[in-house]
Amino acid sequence: MKKPYVYLTRQMPPAIVEKLEAECEVGMWEKEEQPVPKEILEKEIQTADAVFCTISDPIDKELINKAENLKIISTMAVGFNNIDVEAASKRNIQVAHTPGVLSETTADLTFALLMAAARRIPEGMEVIKNNEWGAWAPFFLTGQDIHHARLGIIGMGRIGEAVAKRGTGFDMDIVYHNRSRKSEAENEIGARYVEMDELLETSDFVCVMTPYTKETHHMINREAFQKMKNTAIFINSSRGGTVNEDALYDALKNGDIRGAGLDVFENEPISADHPLLSLPNVTALPHIGSASENTRWKMADMTANHILQGLRGEEPDHPVTL
Ligand code: NAP
Repeated sequence: MKKPYVYLTRQMPPAIVEKLEAECEVGMWEKEEQPVPKEILEKEIQTADAVFCTISDPIDKELINKAENLKIISTMAVGFNNIDVEAASKRNIQVAHTPGVLSETTADLTFALLMAAARRIPEGMEVIKNNEWGAWAPFFLTGQDIHHARLGIIGMGRIGEAVAKRGTGFDMDIVYHNRSRKSEAENEIGARYVEMDELLETSDFVCVMTPYTKETHHMINREAFQKMKNTAIFINSSRGGTVNEDALYDALKNGDIRGAGLDVFENEPISADHPLLSLPNVTALPHIGSASENTRWKMADMTANHILQGLRGEEPDHPVTL
């Protein structure tokens, strides 16, 4: 019997490919650091039974409607805003993602960003590299205390909660805002639910950890920055689109907030001449929240398992549902 055909939009390590080859014919975009061009994906999706994709592949309605045999789209990410899940569902195509397995790793990175921005770590490195480290000075590179400060988390989900847990180790006062209450976070971490305005107005660190949806598009806008303390540090490792970057730039430039730590941007990769990168109070990273070797292996393995499950006619362990 003919094996089903799975297309991988990025080069994966041999162990992952071999796992899939045991049950499938495998086609793969043979580059690890560049996304597959749209026209190639368009051609492949027409005949594929399954697609193994990443966040860089926009899988929209138009593309989905070209697929003739597709049974499952499995993304190596927890965020699935690049996939038109509704269009897939209308065609009975399953969608799967990788929640949970990356929460702790992404929380580590989010907390690292928070600390780097608060204590001005990138600026300190620049000073040394530029040979500008002079005599000890009382207020040289003074930053903001993390311990005992208030950490406001917008989106207290799996990752938000893991960030909050790290905050408790620094005796931080944790507040959060979601559309619904999260009793585990309240009971286990002592996080307090507050309305969005209270979170914005009182937090020393405002951290966004929601998914990117129509509702969260530019959720942090000019008005939100105006409400924040002018000593606040804004952290985003959700998706770039949750923030209006022009408003963020103005808030940082005008001193409406003190700094920002960003792992994600509206257009990725961000260009080196983007105005945000000209600001000394921006700590920027190239979307590496889940990028530990261990976690990326687990994500790739989970993505492959979902493909095999979908092709066997089973429900994947982590389906995306509408
Ligand atoms: P999750 O467990 O689903 O948590 C998301 C939280 O956001 C939920 O608690 C949800 O609560 C809240 N939320 C959703 N819409 C909201 C809204 N409109 N206003 C306020 N809160 C809202 O997801 P997760 O696993 O923690 O992942 C969160 C996101 O992080 C992903 O979707 C992805 O975009 C991003 N991420 C980034 C990286 C990176 O490399 N930087 C890595 C992994 C994930 P309610 O439903 O009660 O509102």
